[in-house]
Amino acid sequence: MASVFTELKTPVTGAYQQPTGLFINNEFVEGVDKKTFEVINPTTEEVICSVHEATEKDVDVAVAAARKAFEGPWKQVTPGQRAGYMFKLAELVEKNLEVLAAVESLDNGKSITLAKGDVGAVAACIRYYAGWADKIEGSTVDIAPDMFHYIKKEPIGVCGQIIPWNFPLLMLAWKIGPALATGNTIVMKTAEQTPLSALVLAQLVKEAGFPPGVLNIISGFGKTAGAALSAHMDVDKIAFTGSTVVGRAIMKAAAASNLKKVTLELGGKSPNIVFNDADIEQAISWVNFGIYYNHGQCCCAGTRIYVQEDIYDKFVEAFKKRATANKVGDPFHHETFQGPQVSQLQYDRIMGYIQSGKEDGATVEVGGERHGDKGYFIQPTIFSNVTSDMKIMKEEIFGPVCAIAKFSTEEEAIKLGNETMYGLAAALHTNDVNRAIRVSNALRAGTVWVNCYNMLHHQLPFGGYKASGIGRELGREALNNYLETKSVAIRLGGALF
Ligand code: ADP
Repeated sequence: MASVFTELKTPVTGAYQQPTGLFINNEFVEGVDKKTFEVINPTTEEVICSVHEATEKDVDVAVAAARKAFEGPWKQVTPGQRAGYMFKLAELVEKNLEVLAAVESLDNGKSITLAKGDVGAVAACIRYYAGWADKIEGSTVDIAPDMFHYIKKEPIGVCGQIIPWNFPLLMLAWKIGPALATGNTIVMKTAEQTPLSALVLAQLVKEAGFPPGVLNIISGFGKTAGAALSAHMDVDKIAFTGSTVVGRAIMKAAAASNLKKVTLELGGKSPNIVFNDADIEQAISWVNFGIYYNHGQCCCAGTRIYVQEDIYDKFVEAFKKRATANKVGDPFHHETFQGPQVSQLQYDRIMGYIQSGKEDGATVEVGGERHGDKGYFIQPTIFSNVTSDMKIMKEEIFGPVCAIAKFSTEEEAIKLGNETMYGLAAALHTNDVNRAIRVSNALRAGTVWVNCYNMLHHQLPFGGYKASGIGRELGREALNNYLETKSVAIRLGGALF
């Protein structure tokens, strides 16, 4: 029998045991067809290991496990006990922060400092939702003296969750938190580029004491395992984070199968607007962080930078210096800010966008080339002289590439900010409080940051207007994505009307 563990090494942890199986019913198992696929290290372009691949048959097995847990043991668990398991999981994540972060850096390429921040946020998110588990309440409604009406909140059932590779652990936490707190069971499909950290976390799920089948984690490809999960007749809800193209496919699959509930967190092309009354030094730091954080691989990345015309030249000069100073390199080096892009495919896509910017006549202010000669590294890149019709101003690049343009008035800034099919996030920099509120209210985006960027928090809802998605993750609002509402009307005797 093939092994479901392998020994790997990271510079932080030394040797450790990496699970490679599918995590179903609290056990690591091989797939039904015994398929595996290779996981690539984006820093070296070498194979890290192979993991077991879920096919449609394994999706069936995992869904059956989740269904059995939902109808059986998980229903018997009280909300308080549910909270207990989740608090324990959060504690175990914190205890294993080093190994989880190291595996994230190894597999995804993000710097170890960022990865540690992600794992801290994972624990905080799970703990936050643990706190909600015993606070889900219904209500009673007075309608008539001979009737008793109450409204009850119930878990939806078996939830399929499909996550991307840019924040492998954090996206998992955002999804399992509200789903578990509300009493659902889960089949989670991780991204094929980054399956490793979730499998390490799976061990902690078992250690925390969750009954078998409550949280199943499978590695596999979108077109097979992902598609099977979204089209499954016994999955009650599908939650997805990823590209808008795949979001549409998932919604279609849900509609064509059992009309399972759908929530989607999709792409973005977020504006970052700098007014002439902003603190320029601060604005540059936040603009830099807004685009280059996580190597530009953020759905909310501030990729369209609009600067008021009278400070434009000064801003561009200073921003160029700031971007060039970002340390690009080995994710395990403690000073590294930007590691490699996640895969050859992403590298090629981003270089394709850089090429299109050049061909369309935009000016490369800095970057625009590969960094080094090994690994999927790309230089932090700034394009100026970009017009609204250029691809690099319209399409999501998902890499360390931004477009910068001028505006003259507040009205123009708002118009340009909203000139996109997306509406995930937006930001503005100003010291005028009236302008801050006026512009925040006028921007059509699910999150607006003023004088900062990327300040996400598990207590605040996150999600998109327009083509950026359906529903909200995080905060209290995310709980509703995982709850059904039942109205009960009881006749209290008396004559039939
Ligand atoms: P990217 O293009 O950046 O890799 P995707 O949206 O393709 O982003 O991937 C995000 C997640 O969606 C991954 O887990 C991937 O396997 C999954 N996925 C891709 N295609 C499909 C599909 N047709 N149905 C369901 N899931 C999919």
